[in-house]
Amino acid sequence: GFKAVVIEKKDDANVVGIKEFAVDDLMEGDTVVRISHSSLNYKDGLAVTGSSPVVRRFPMVPGIDFVGTVESTSADRLAVGDAVLLNGWGTGERHLGGWAEKSRVPGKWLTPLPPGFSPEQAMAIGTAGYTAALCVLALQDGGVTPESGEVVVSGAAGGVGSVAVSLLASLGYTVVASTGRLEEEGYLKKIGASRIISRDELAVAPRPLEKELWAGAIDSVGSTTLANILAKTKYGGTVACCGLAAGMDLPTTVAPFILRGVTLRGIDSVMASPAVRSRAWELLDRTLDRKVLAEMTSVVSLEGAVKAAEDILKGKVRGRVVVKIDD
Ligand code: NAP
Repeated sequence: GFKAVVIEKKDDANVVGIKEFAVDDLMEGDTVVRISHSSLNYKDGLAVTGSSPVVRRFPMVPGIDFVGTVESTSADRLAVGDAVLLNGWGTGERHLGGWAEKSRVPGKWLTPLPPGFSPEQAMAIGTAGYTAALCVLALQDGGVTPESGEVVVSGAAGGVGSVAVSLLASLGYTVVASTGRLEEEGYLKKIGASRIISRDELAVAPRPLEKELWAGAIDSVGSTTLANILAKTKYGGTVACCGLAAGMDLPTTVAPFILRGVTLRGIDSVMASPAVRSRAWELLDRTLDRKVLAEMTSVVSLEGAVKAAEDILKGKVRGRVVVKIDD
């Protein structure tokens, strides 16, 4: 057997504990991975606490990403001993996830660990950071350049937000960081923000069009925040939408789209194609400042990950949390 965080459903509530899990109880797949690191993402917080029905089978092992070494495989492209990375594909939701010493998955879900990152660094980036990279690519594809003007990042002190701020700053963009934690101004400036605004400024219902402020945006918050961002985006700008930390609704009008040609780009990391994934990881490898990455990262054990699951939903986690599996 091996150690895993296990979520069970009892009387409509989630019961979570660290248990011995049998290799025979792992799910279908041609490849067994010995996991060294996973991470804490917002979705893991939802899974562990049960506050949103992201878990589609029980028992479930949370953890939507991991890094490890191939222990056995019959997949074509893989060999025993390969260092591999997994992001998404439904792990931690429909397929047993990464908060465990082992996982069995289809080999096609695995990519080689990017050579520019250690296992810990790859999980410090994790799904949140890889999603931030997808958002940056969306802005670039939309023609937003550093010369276009300021770019705003909402939920800036969170995981997606922190990596987005850092990547944009390294690429030369002027980054406005929106946060509910004004006490994190020092942190946000250290990782690349030019200036800070309070999330309250984006929390009141906007008029259909507001003063044009930003050339682009990366939003992990949704709801009224995203509606505000759309109303304040400059003519022809692009907004990358990837999250719902404030809610799934979007109380907007068509005005920003039909009167200012604003583009709203949806970002999904879970089912993204291998080609899209490698573009994002290449951007991270080329661009992400490793010192800044260390600045935004904390490391916890499996026990610590379970404890931090509630904190991430309350917006109390700063930056990224690596879950160290092997001791
Ligand atoms: P996170 O670390 O908790 O970051 C979210 C941040 O949003 C918080 O740190 C907080 O930042 C802000 N926030 C929290 N509650 C808020 C509220 N009620 N109103 C306004 N702002 C609030 O989580 P994460 O792992 O970065 O994920 C962020 C979001 O992106 C989640 O919704 C997640 O599901 C989504 N996501 C989507 C994908 C995808 O494939 N589309 C991939 C990864 C993540 P401040 O304190 O700085 O305001």
